[in-house]
This record gives sequence, structure tokens and C-alpha cells, in this order.
Amino acid sequence: MPFELTILGSSSALPTSERYPTAQVLNVLERFFLIDCGEGTQIQIRRLKLRFAKITRIFISHLHGDHYFGLPGLISTYSLLGLKNDIHIHAPSDLERLIRPQIDHMKHGLNFNIHFYPLDFKAAHVIYADDKVEVTSFPVKHSIPTCGFLFKEKPRLANISKEAMNKYNIPVKCIQDIKNGADFILENGTVIPNHVLTIPACKPRSYAFCTDTKYYEPIIEHIKGADLLYHETTFADDKREFARKTFHTTTKEAATLAKKAGVAKLVIGHFSARYKDIDALVSEAREVFPETYAAHDGDVFKVI
Ligand SMILES: [Zn+2]
Ligand SMILES: [Zn+2]
Repeated sequence: MPFELTILGSSSALPTSERYPTAQVLNVLERFFLIDCGEGTQIQIRRLKLRFAKITRIFISHLHGDHYFGLPGLISTYSLLGLKNDIHIHAPSDLERLIRPQIDHMKHGLNFNIHFYPLDFKAAHVIYADDKVEVTSFPVKHSIPTCGFLFKEKPRLANISKEAMNKYNIPVKCIQDIKNGADFILENGTVIPNHVLTIPACKPRSYAFCTDTKYYEPIIEHIKGADLLYHETTFADDKREFARKTFHTTTKEAATLAKKAGVAKLVIGHFSARYKDIDALVSEAREVFPETYAAHDGDVFKVI
């Protein structure tokens, strides 16, 4: 039951020799979501041996280049690889206007359609759902309209207790009803309550992506209790004023948000290219929220 985050890029606007701009792939039960698509995303997908064909749903948080400049190249590669599945892009409405001319200019044409779904920056919305997972966008506070995303498993059905099945001789045809909450009635009329027959399913797991934003407490209600939170941490805490001016967050601010939201684990990234010693940033964040880890390109974080 995989639920894991692969970091493709963890730098801020200026890429470095070790870090590409923002991009991540989230695998939720074999659904592969691309979150932001900075320059170099397709190279990282290849390097990290992820499958292009599986990544057909893309979420773009905002239209600063370090979060979407990788898209035209990625789309061109999809086409050159002969992929046929449609691509779905959830992004600010202007994105289609910006990249459609480049797509139309691709001489080889596309064997698939690209569907654009505009984000709303005023309120939180469920923007994608299937039988296993739900994705919600929510506004954050950056210098241009920007959304974060929450990826959450849907509640799973309870598991049947094998012991109870044997003890009460439960026929296979009754299993689905019991999983859905039904009791079981023995031939003598005795009711065996559902909780005796089942083992509760694990709690649904969740991942929250808080991209470029200044410290903004209204985010908390959307990410409360997440198992994993990625929050941008462009600056160390001595740059708090500058962070505020540029609509970014410091180490201690991201850690404070993680603590207030009661998340289990915090991953920090989107580091300014000025920082060579990322360990110092992690130490600073851990003073507030001990379960803090730095994102490096290629890292995989399992959500448990
Ligand atoms: Zn950025
Ligand atoms: Zn930005």
C-alpha cells in the first residue's frame, strides 16, 4: 500500500549544481501525481527511474518559473515517447495561455489531449477524487495567487477477523456486507455485532504540500494532523523580515506551523541558493519541531 513522496527538486528560484527547482512525485496507492514542475523535472524523472507513462496528473501551485518551466519540455517528451494517455493539469488559469502556444508549435503534434483545470485562490476545494484518494487545494499567501495541496487517502473498509470468520462459520457471501458495517446473525438468532467480526482499518494517510508562502496561519485548518507536511523554508530565521517582504517562510516559522497543525513529520525545502549548509537550517527548525527533515533531490519520504 505505497504512499511515498519523491523529491525531484528542492531549490528555490535559482537552481544549484545539487538542487533543481521545485518538483515532486507523490505515489498514493500507485497513483502518481506530479506536484510542481520546475526546470529539469523530466531529467529527474528519468534519473530516479520513475515512469513517465504513469504520471498523468499534474498540480502546479503558482506561476513563478521555478514551479512550471519544466512543463513544455516534459510535454514534448511525453509526445516523443509516443505516450497516449491524456494529461490533466490543475493550475492557475493563466497557465494554458502561457504554454499553449509552445505546445501548438511542437511540430510532431501530440497523441494525447491536455486538460487544464483552473485553481481557485479564494477558498479550499476538492479538485480531484477517485475511489482511493482525494486532493484538496487551499490558498496560501505568496506574492502572486498560489495554492497548497492536501492529498488524502479515502477511509478504507474494515478488515474481517479471520478468527471470527472461523468461529462463527461466516459464509463468503456475507463478507462484503460485514466490511460495510453489517452485523452477522447466527441460525439461532443471536446477533454478533460488527465490531466483534472486524479489525478497524488503518487511519487514512495524508500529505500536505505548502509551496511558496509567507507564514500564514489560515493554512493550519487545511493541513491539521497530516502525516507528512512539506513546507517551503527559503530562509534561515535571521532573515525573517526579508522572508516577509518576499512572501517566503523561515525555518522556525515553518516549524511553528507544523507544530500548531499537529502534523507528524515536516520536510523543509525550496532553499535559497545562498545556503550551502542545510544541516544548520534543519537544526534551527528542530528547536521548534523536532521531527523536521531536509529535502534533497532524490530523497524518498514514506508516509506511514
Ligand atoms: Zn519558488
Ligand atoms: Zn514563488
